[in-house]
Amino acid sequence: MKSFWSDKERFLGREVLPGGIRLRHLTTCPICGNHAWRFVGRRMNQPQRWQGIRQPALLLTVVQCRFCGVFTVTPFPEGISTIVYERIAPEEYFANAMAFEDRLRDNFLRLLPQIGFRQNWRVLDVGAGTGFLMHCFRLWGAHVKGIEPSARFRAFACQRWHFTPDDFFPVHAEVADLPEHTFHLIVLREVLEHMEDPLRALQRVTRALLPGGFLYVIVPAAEWLLARLLDCYYRVRGTQLTTHTAPLHPPFHLYEFTRRTLRYLAYTLNLYVVWIRPVRQVQFGGRWRPILTCLNYVLRTGIEWEALLMKPTGIDQPRIPAPAHHTH
Ligand SMILES: [Zn+2]
Repeated sequence: MKSFWSDKERFLGREVLPGGIRLRHLTTCPICGNHAWRFVGRRMNQPQRWQGIRQPALLLTVVQCRFCGVFTVTPFPEGISTIVYERIAPEEYFANAMAFEDRLRDNFLRLLPQIGFRQNWRVLDVGAGTGFLMHCFRLWGAHVKGIEPSARFRAFACQRWHFTPDDFFPVHAEVADLPEHTFHLIVLREVLEHMEDPLRALQRVTRALLPGGFLYVIVPAAEWLLARLLDCYYRVRGTQLTTHTAPLHPPFHLYEFTRRTLRYLAYTLNLYVVWIRPVRQVQFGGRWRPILTCLNYVLRTGIEWEALLMKPTGIDQPRIPAPAHHTH
């Protein structure tokens, strides 16, 4: 993919970036509210080459929260998702995802018997993107809705799979006004890492989940072996660069998650953890793909985490009183 930013868009020495993106210094962890950080490295505003920094670039600092284990960046670019999804063509952004749609469908075909899926279930796909998953669920007999803030992506999904605008909540999940206790299954597949406030989004969608309903989450794993190896390489080269997160260039990840983060989120949201497990299948890398996948199996790591969480069926009370940070 070509550089996302045009040559005129200079980043250096600015607090407001092109498109009105604001850089906000993090004082507390956006997930758990703590403020003890571990320095991970520096991330450029463009893809990093093997040689490291060869031209002037904006460097953000990647940090890990010592309490919940999440990786994020400071200063934190606010408003990035809006500008990205207005500018980028869906065909380009989803090229890789669309190449692996069969695998995505098969993955869900394996999952659905585990959770007792039935026709007429109400399903919500958060960050519906190309609409493929919504299309699958509609074929399988579910009543499906999507949350998709990007008008371009919604138009793409409507045109591709004949959805109507009524099938979507055209807002960011953090502010979505969803009906309470409605959905049997809510899917957040590779979307939390793009959100500015994943916890708030999860609080919103959890409220919309039926008691006994399932939340299925896929997020990038901070522990992924290749990222750790590349970071070692950068240290050997004498730079502070890191491959963790990608705040200002594709794929625009503001967060990476650990198993501990997912457990923390489940606890805070008062959800049961059915399982949390690594995704070992790698979906990029050309001819290296089978080797990377094998390595994941051998070394028991994964490129992403997938988690199945369940809302308790009893009285719907939070287990612990939420700290002030968590009440929006
Ligand atoms: Zn934290």
